Amino acid sequence: MDETGKNLICGLCNKPLKLVKTEFKYMDSNFHHDLLTCESCGQVYIPYELVKTRIRQVETELEDK
Ligand SMILES: [Zn+2]
Repeated sequence: MDETGKNLICGLCNKPLKLVKTEFKYMDSNFHHDLLTCESCGQVYIPYELVKTRIRQVETELEDK
């Protein structure tokens, strides 16, 4: 049930973004997630909701230690 970022178009290439398994780093933590990526220019769209959710998870894990 994740409608975020559906049918997004790359602003540079005017091409639809595709879901690509992507690794990205935030606050010394690596995330693996299917992110919308432009195959032409490599631009990655990271939905704000995803970032917010994952950061909250990381912060919770840190507090537990
Ligand atoms: Zn592009």
